[in-house]
Amino acid sequence: MVLGNKKVIYCKNCLYNSSHALGITFDHNYVCSGCQIHLEKDRLNWTEKFNKLKKIVKNYRSKKNYYDCIVPVDGSHDSFFIVHVVKNILKLNPLLVTYNKYFNTKLGIYNLSNLRIKFDSDILFQNVNPKKVKKITKYTLTEFGNIYWHCIAGQTVFPVQISIKYKIPLIIWGAHQGIEQVGMFSYNDEVEMTRRYRKDHDLFGKEAEDLITSYNNLNFDDIQDYIYPSFKEINSVGTRGIYLNNYIRWDPKKQNELMIKKYNYKTNSFNRTFDKYEYVDCFNYMSIHDILKQYKHGYSKVTDQASREIRFGRLRRKDAEIIVKYFQSQKIEHEDKFCQWIGIKKQSLYLILNSFKKNFSYNNFKDHNKKYVVTDKKILKKINKQYKLTKNLNISESDYITFGKGHKSLT
Ligand SMILES: [Zn+2]
Repeated sequence: MVLGNKKVIYCKNCLYNSSHALGITFDHNYVCSGCQIHLEKDRLNWTEKFNKLKKIVKNYRSKKNYYDCIVPVDGSHDSFFIVHVVKNILKLNPLLVTYNKYFNTKLGIYNLSNLRIKFDSDILFQNVNPKKVKKITKYTLTEFGNIYWHCIAGQTVFPVQISIKYKIPLIIWGAHQGIEQVGMFSYNDEVEMTRRYRKDHDLFGKEAEDLITSYNNLNFDDIQDYIYPSFKEINSVGTRGIYLNNYIRWDPKKQNELMIKKYNYKTNSFNRTFDKYEYVDCFNYMSIHDILKQYKHGYSKVTDQASREIRFGRLRRKDAEIIVKYFQSQKIEHEDKFCQWIGIKKQSLYLILNSFKKNFSYNNFKDHNKKYVVTDKKILKKINKQYKLTKNLNISESDYITFGKGHKSLT
């Protein structure tokens, strides 16, 4: 198969191909770098690695009853597990920090409150003025087909700003996505947080300052909360961000199931994926954000999740192909809430979404809107059963939960 001038290579093991947005390589057997690095999960001595982590954090233990580290959290997937490791296993005193993404579900707010209570920790919220957030999101949506820039920019910069302001050098993150998805590094490289990775991969090459152009109405005041601190500021505190997946055999499904059992973490079901554990705090990640990923890159989040499950040996590749085709042909949800929030008509949103649609013949995306019918329903039943749905508050009933600087009727 040919993509532009390049030949598309498919992984023999998982569902990724050479067009992956993060970049991917293949060995002579057509096995992708993500699958190769995944094998390290069963090769490395994780007890030794965890002991190394213990040694690293020892140097950051505060002697004056102050915070030992910063942990970025939200009301979704890995947060419970990260805080569980930091507080209960490493016995550190974390300052939790969270960025208000404004697309909050009732369930996400519940999970976040439950997290603060169960782990008895202090938390700081970053509430950027919603007027600015909407202005930025309107621009990133129409210009780059991206409604999530502000969320990722905020989530990745706020902990660094707090590190400097409060002089807490150590930031502890969960998984490095470049390693988990495409095997960008070995776990033994023990890569740490960098400004460069944030810009190139998290922010799609656009730092806050790059958003201001002569042909839009954004100004410095709008973007200042998203500006990464200078090298001088970072060096003055010695800010350092480490990833737990370099020291713990990272398995999101297993970890989340432990968190459901131990701390009553709440899960939810989605139209476009079988995974009920991730992104439950957001109305848009598995919806508008997901369809834009599919339109622009030729695959949606369910491909990432199914590839992960294949690697862990919990899903057969031939079943995964059917599952992915089914979920990626499902409708998006909650568009009304987004249109109301950002102040555009639904037709305008569809026009914008469609303008980013590309044809990906090599990924069965000739027609994005064609519903895929699964004849063997057992495959869907089986994968659905593997993910626990907790008894919940009905998230569809509510609007975005705004807090801090805003209420729906006022903003
Ligand atoms: Zn692979």
